[in-house]
Amino acid sequence: MEHFKISETPFLGEIAKRSKVHLVSGKNAYDNTIEALSKVDLSYAKGKKVLLKPNVGRLALAGAGVTTNPEVVAASIDAFQKVGAEVVIGESPITGVNTMEAYEVTGIAQVAKERNCLLIDMDARKFVDVALPDGIAIDSLKLCPEIMEYDIIVSIPVMKMHMHTGVTLAMKNMKGCLWRKSKVKLHMLPSVEGVNERPLNIAIADMAYALRPHLSIVDGSTCLEGLGPSAGSPKDLGIVLVGVDVFAVDAVACELMGTTAKKVPHLYLAAERGYGEIDIDKIDVTTDNWRQYTKKFEEPPKNIALNHPGFNILDKQSCSACQSTLLLFLKQHTDFLKEYYPKEEKINIAIGKGHNELPDGTLCIGNCTIKHRDKGVFIKGCPPVSSKIIEIMKIEKR
Ligand code: SF4
Repeated sequence: MEHFKISETPFLGEIAKRSKVHLVSGKNAYDNTIEALSKVDLSYAKGKKVLLKPNVGRLALAGAGVTTNPEVVAASIDAFQKVGAEVVIGESPITGVNTMEAYEVTGIAQVAKERNCLLIDMDARKFVDVALPDGIAIDSLKLCPEIMEYDIIVSIPVMKMHMHTGVTLAMKNMKGCLWRKSKVKLHMLPSVEGVNERPLNIAIADMAYALRPHLSIVDGSTCLEGLGPSAGSPKDLGIVLVGVDVFAVDAVACELMGTTAKKVPHLYLAAERGYGEIDIDKIDVTTDNWRQYTKKFEEPPKNIALNHPGFNILDKQSCSACQSTLLLFLKQHTDFLKEYYPKEEKINIAIGKGHNELPDGTLCIGNCTIKHRDKGVFIKGCPPVSSKIIEIMKIEKR
């Protein structure tokens, strides 16, 4: 097993004494990004290999707030190419999503093509096993090899609420550098004795030992509130944030979303280990009156079943991939389900591997529920995609 962590940021002027975060607002995401990046001296990148890591984890259209705005990615490519860097884009999406298809659907393939920028499916090659000596919930990562091969790694997330991690921003976006299904493992960990937080959040803090990006560009053009990371509602903020201390950038983003990094477990747990600054009083936001851009984001509901009367959601030890599938499915196909189960007062739907017993007639979603397949309709996949659920249900009914 290798020992690896992303090197110290080369953009040293930015963290000389206090972490700096630059905010630019306006209607045009491209111009905002160019202006925000102009505040950082990128000249070090000349002749260097730069890997841009946007959030292209799902099949979602540009402007939905689920994946990074292609205009933010376009501006990031232009800014680095302008200083003479060799720029590529890399992603390892959630399980069940094809990387190259995600680039196309999200509009990122188009802006990359226009700029002759290579798109990399980071799941294509074999992983590298990396040890995490400080790890509490996990002691190693299966890393996409590109992360070790590029001189500069740039995290470019979109600002979103997240039902398991509170928010998902530049640090959490780096989870998309974990190879294929190894991402899912972080959702299935046992609880950690003595740490009163979800093991997923502890694991993301563990991951931060190795995966702190050199630069973070947070897309706050159209964001996502409520049921993030995929079933929430778009929210226009019209801003872009840039900084080299990923925790400082995330902390400022949290404030703008109406929360605080001190309440976001993966951020405060990592900051306690000295991985970055989340104390807003110790961060220099270089934009005057930056708090005027704050818009309170709707929190994700604590219990997804409450939002879906008529459904009994049986969720035991599932991961967010299956939850997202289910939530999207419920959002789009409630009428289909009610017609499918006309006599049920409450439709039972199960996800996750922790069920001992399930009621007869349960719709079992995802491979984790396979042992209950005889109880009702079973949808295989890890996770299954929403369209597959309908397809299988229609076949089963025949
Ligand atoms: S089947 Fe669903 S809950 Fe189980 S590991 Fe796969 S994505 Fe996670």
